[in-house]
Amino acid sequence: MQPRLNLAYALLSILIVCFCTTTNAQVRRSTADLVLTNGTIHTLNPDRPKAQAVAIIGNQIAVVGTNDEVMPFVGPDTRVIDLKNQAVYPGFKESHGHLMGIGTAKLQVNLVGVSGYKELIERIVTRAQNAKPGEWITGRGWHEEKWTDRSSLTVRGFMTHDDLTKAVPNNPVWVRRADGHAAFANAKAMEVAGVDRNTASPEGGAIIMDADGNPTGVFIDRAMRLIKSPPLTESQRRQALELGIEECLANGITMFDDAGVNVGTIDLYKEYADQGKLNLRLYAMAGGLKTMRTLGQPIIDYGNGFLNVRAVKLVADGALGSRGAALLEEYEDDPGNSGFFTTPPETVYTASQYALQNGWQVATHAIGDRANRMMLDMYEKAMKEFPHVKDHRFRDEHTQILDEADIKRFAKLGIIASMQGIHATSDLSWAPNRLGVHRTEEGGYVWQKLLKEGVKIINGTDAPVEAVDPIASYYASVTRQKENGTPVGGMYGDQRMTRHEALRSYTLDAAYGSFHENQGGSIEVGKLADFTILTKDIMTVPEQEILESEVMYTIVDGIVRYEKGKPMKPAIP
Ligand SMILES: [Zn+2]
Repeated sequence: MQPRLNLAYALLSILIVCFCTTTNAQVRRSTADLVLTNGTIHTLNPDRPKAQAVAIIGNQIAVVGTNDEVMPFVGPDTRVIDLKNQAVYPGFKESHGHLMGIGTAKLQVNLVGVSGYKELIERIVTRAQNAKPGEWITGRGWHEEKWTDRSSLTVRGFMTHDDLTKAVPNNPVWVRRADGHAAFANAKAMEVAGVDRNTASPEGGAIIMDADGNPTGVFIDRAMRLIKSPPLTESQRRQALELGIEECLANGITMFDDAGVNVGTIDLYKEYADQGKLNLRLYAMAGGLKTMRTLGQPIIDYGNGFLNVRAVKLVADGALGSRGAALLEEYEDDPGNSGFFTTPPETVYTASQYALQNGWQVATHAIGDRANRMMLDMYEKAMKEFPHVKDHRFRDEHTQILDEADIKRFAKLGIIASMQGIHATSDLSWAPNRLGVHRTEEGGYVWQKLLKEGVKIINGTDAPVEAVDPIASYYASVTRQKENGTPVGGMYGDQRMTRHEALRSYTLDAAYGSFHENQGGSIEVGKLADFTILTKDIMTVPEQEILESEVMYTIVDGIVRYEKGKPMKPAIP
């Protein structure tokens, strides 16, 4: 905890004692800025799990109790919100997303939900009609596993660029797969980048070639670096950030772990934090060892506590969908391929050493069981050299496929599993194609196996891979079912979380994931006034009604930043 906050707690305690022991005149002088009444409040404080009302003074929670208990704090300038029984939770935290990516996706061609290659091309053609010759067309969100028309998936499960090139010959096209681990180019983009049949696949990536040895336009993981679309302009960057923040607030997100950013983006975040325009709490991870070293020391409680940069993000392997996740055995549907490391083990080790020495947390993307094991090995090796660093809170981002032997090691080493509930239901319908049923069942998204060992699970969406929607991810976490109620194979059902576990994964445990549990994550006197308020109580409504719940208010630092039905301040036009 920060000394400043300690002092604040002390003062607040004195204040509250005064309230109880002095006259009404003094009470009236110390009135609340915001009071919430008639709510169904889930505090996640075991001493008082349920409450009806909250009073907020400044940016902190001053009273948690009944309507009667908060009424003495209402003054002429207090905003009182009658919640009419709506449900209040500690502010939801997205524990793994890409804030700039969310905003950037809104500026690009949206390929989420296309039914097949034909529709993908149509959407790009629509954009190309308004583009100048030579202007880049970028997009993201295609996911060939979800296409209903699969006739075009002819080379290693992917389409080839020919039809796209015919439709859009004069503009370079570069569109990312939904998971960000593959991208697709037309001929013009490959020509501009100088990629042809003689270009070799780089380490940690693959250029998919057809039977004649020509590139198909599909680039996996590190091979994506061969094609470079122009960076966003300065005003587009700001627009993307503001759109990203708005999207989070509209989804009830009050705090966001940004999984890997460069120094330029951190500078932009600082600028917004300085101007009080960040509007949600950001826990940004330095993208890679080099970025961490450039920064040297973590950035703690910058801009009134809205910005922390205390973790480093590493990427150990690719993704399961694009068959880049590093597996202990080969892919069921791609014999001879067992994926690859995108970061050498030595780098994970070196980064862990540096982090333990300099107060950083390491957060490593590890999807396949081989990547997870390598990450644990490297963490363990470094930790043995720094036994005095007890509270490192190293993380595993995604933790999708685990070998049985490694589950206990998470608990032993104190590793946090940063998993995305929504990925389980998105992936598990096709994951058995990649892994076979046995491996998927034994090691795929094994929430209960991890929780039983005492491992903390923190939840999220990896937005823009999925919509930054905590309700959808919560629903997936507690039901392990698709939106329409179809189970993703009954055999996986036993791994679903209880509602309480899922709520913790979005609040108190999520806060632990970024050293924030003493300041937030539950509704308690002295903690920061961050709340997510929903129209329906996802802790008690029947399962099928969870997805009907909507965000009513998003409150960050005692300020209502989003209110259902009210327009938000528009992003810079
Ligand atoms: Zn990610």
